[in-house]
Amino acid sequence: MTRSITSGTRLLVVLGDPVEHSLSPVVQNAAFRETGVDGVYVALACSEKDLPGFIGGIARAGGGGNVTLPHKEKAASVLDIPSEAVLRTGACNTFWGVDGKVHGDNTDVDGFGRALMSFLGHAPKGFRVLVLGAGGAARAALVSLLDAEVSAIFLLNRTVDRARAVSRRIGGEKVRVVERAQEVEGLDFDLVVNTTRLGLSADDPLPVDLGLLSRAGAVMDLVYGPEATPLVRAAEALGIRAADGLEMLIQQGAVSFERWWDRPAPVEAMRGALRRVAGI
Ligand code: NAP
Repeated sequence: MTRSITSGTRLLVVLGDPVEHSLSPVVQNAAFRETGVDGVYVALACSEKDLPGFIGGIARAGGGGNVTLPHKEKAASVLDIPSEAVLRTGACNTFWGVDGKVHGDNTDVDGFGRALMSFLGHAPKGFRVLVLGAGGAARAALVSLLDAEVSAIFLLNRTVDRARAVSRRIGGEKVRVVERAQEVEGLDFDLVVNTTRLGLSADDPLPVDLGLLSRAGAVMDLVYGPEATPLVRAAEALGIRAADGLEMLIQQGAVSFERWWDRPAPVEAMRGALRRVAGI
């Protein structure tokens, strides 16, 4: 049933630049229809200069939304009430208003944790983890893994200084920055997480040669697409169980829905909507 839009309808947006390829409007509007909440979700292309005005104005008018590339860090700096995940990662991808104050969260943290939990069937407590990449997605993954009490994280990134900066911000003594890929050869990991962009383009090299590790218990790739990613295929060819980033995409959207509406998200409806539009 299509709900009519009235003066009471709540506005939710995704702010980014560019945003025309965002799948969030399809996924969130499907969730709104499924649950019957009175909201509409639209994509707005927005410059960094306009971001604070959009976030503050929409939240104070009772709405909210998501923030995507390249504005997640800027968004973190304009909140009145940042969540712990925002403070630890320095990034915000979800905002909403309460009593004139702008609240914000980084739902990539819980989205990653839920997706990993559903993939493994249990929390990664005590795991030795190799994390590839040191961008925004890596920061969310690190916070989630540390909260899940992994025993050690090896952090490998093309730009070593960026990995060092991430480790200083989030890491603590459990995170060890690896300077060259050769340093992980022959090591044993319960889990390998790819947070780099490698795999988005068909001609990308693999982010790591899994065959050089002594063991990789499982592989989680944050990259996703209509087909299995090259890393997922490489892992499966070696008999290693692997998952792509699709479930994290759905779960971070589900957590955003829960922040705005304070009720459980209809995850199956969101998954179905994504499958229909993206052929995933
Ligand atoms: P980002 O902040 O731009 O970071 C990109 C990362 O990829 C950096 O570590 C960068 O290394 C690395 N990289 C880029 N090109 C490379 C190359 N040619 N060789 C080696 N490393 C390279 O991006 P992000 O926001 O973290 O996103 C990273 C990936 O995660 C994207 O594919 C994104 O789609 C995915 N992601 C998925 C979800 C989900 O819900 N599934 C959520 C968030 C992100 P340098 O530091 O050396 O540049």
